[in-house]
Amino acid sequence: MTDYARLERSVAYKKGDMYYFTGRGCKRGHIAKRRTTNGSCIECERENDRKRIRPITYYKSKYRENRERYRRYRKTAYNKYREKRIQETIQWQKDNPEKVNIKNSRWRKKNSGKVNAQTIRYRTRKSRAEPSWLTEKQRIEIREIYIKAVEMNLEVDHIIPLKGRNICGLHVPWNLQMLTKSENCSKGNKYV
Ligand SMILES: [Zn+2]
Repeated sequence: MTDYARLERSVAYKKGDMYYFTGRGCKRGHIAKRRTTNGSCIECERENDRKRIRPITYYKSKYRENRERYRRYRKTAYNKYREKRIQETIQWQKDNPEKVNIKNSRWRKKNSGKVNAQTIRYRTRKSRAEPSWLTEKQRIEIREIYIKAVEMNLEVDHIIPLKGRNICGLHVPWNLQMLTKSENCSKGNKYV
């Protein structure tokens, strides 16, 4: 009946698969695929759907009609349990270091521009190349340059190098330019 390859939830999670299949029965005895995010059995989901008195579209349109009210309700509910949820999250992260690592590396891959900007910022602050008078707006401007560079497959270069031979540049928006990898390589630490 079922010819899925066996796949444990942790493996499916790592692979980023939406479903997994263990070959073991759920609590109602279905031998079926399960959803990786919450472990629910898809046969059970189907049964629950059938038991619903009104079709799912009814709830969806209800939601659309009262969107603002639901939103307000969710916000108060969130604030009510905010502290508790933060504590739960911290605990979950302590208990699941491996999952945290996977999530983090996925996020870094998707947001590599932000990560590059953050890394260089940390380095420049240490070496005092980022001036203390830099405004929040200019800092965001810098971050945008790094994000754009990743999108265009370019590298961000300091026009006047931060550690040049005769002159040291600053980590400010107007000292940044986008170069191709080979252009950046051939430029090195020179100010041309
Ligand atoms: Zn089931």
